[in-house]
Amino acid sequence: MSRSLVKVKSTLLLGKDRLSISRAAKIIKKGGLVAFPTETVYGLGASAFNADAVKKIYKAKGRPQDNPLIIHLCDRAQLDEVATDVPQAAYRLIEKFWPGPLSLVLPRAANVPAVVSAGLSTVAVRMPDHQAALDLIKASAVPIAAPSANRSGKPSPTSFRHVIEDLSGRIDAVIKSKDCIVGIESTVLDMTAIRPVILRPGGVSREGIEMTLGSSVLVAGLEISSGGPISPGMKYRHYSPRAPLILITGPAKRRQRLINAINVYYQGQGLKVGLLNQIITEDPAKNLSVEYLAAHLFQSLRRLDHQGVDLILAEETVTTGIGLAVMNRLRKAATRVLRV
Ligand code: AMP
Ligand code: MG
Repeated sequence: MSRSLVKVKSTLLLGKDRLSISRAAKIIKKGGLVAFPTETVYGLGASAFNADAVKKIYKAKGRPQDNPLIIHLCDRAQLDEVATDVPQAAYRLIEKFWPGPLSLVLPRAANVPAVVSAGLSTVAVRMPDHQAALDLIKASAVPIAAPSANRSGKPSPTSFRHVIEDLSGRIDAVIKSKDCIVGIESTVLDMTAIRPVILRPGGVSREGIEMTLGSSVLVAGLEISSGGPISPGMKYRHYSPRAPLILITGPAKRRQRLINAINVYYQGQGLKVGLLNQIITEDPAKNLSVEYLAAHLFQSLRRLDHQGVDLILAEETVTTGIGLAVMNRLRKAATRVLRV
């Protein structure tokens, strides 16, 4: 097909100034799609009360219809517009962690169209810790439903460049800002069960939640193995670079030995191996925090793809703090997990 016959919608690149935010808000009010920065990853937003606009999100991302979105708020008063029967424990968590990377699953209010939560009777809600996101929600005068602003299956976008790479021509606008500080998505915590359940580990740690509640929580996939996935999004392969990714677990010395052996073998075949941990740290001698690993994980997966590697090798990290989320994403991105 000749290029001129392909109808491409142009995507506006906007700043964070007042005029830009008010242009972006107009798009949201009119039922359009705007990608915006948050502290976790870039989100792809539409009015949470406009079912047709929300449907466009699924289409632009190529997202399966049964994978619900998260509603983003700019103040606590908006909570009652989207959720009902909020338990006391949820308010304690809100007090401690909002604005921040904690999404609470609560009963869905009647105002919210079913498509936002893929037909579930619950809804995930959070308040992002990013001024541009809060400004956009405020100026739009509606809560904004938003999943991550990537094509479904790809690593989540932590830079506006990743959003353009994935969604240019498919959405109305992108608000340009710095790279996301946390770099990994929010923790999704189900508050509708008797005991709260972490459906997806993320930016707020299990330890932090337990300390605030004064009691322990469950983690889906660790303490709870249901017949099917409890959080619909968790059943899909996710965060995947183009190249196959092998996750290597076990003692550090043995991991290193296996990595060296695979490297030598692949190079012998004329193939390129990308070492994820090395590309993140750049200086392998440097002992980096797991927070740094989290903040650079997705962008490093994209970088390795751009380098055209044939195989990516990743090493396990700690499962405390945000490490639980890093390991969750690595397991989801991996084509194989090897224990040495
Ligand atoms: P994303 O914003 O792209 O990271 O996707 C939102 C995540 O939140 C998905 O993994 C969903 O499965 C999860 N989620 C959203 N709403 C609900 C809900 N009502 N119940 C369980 N999980 C949810
Ligand atoms: Mg996502």
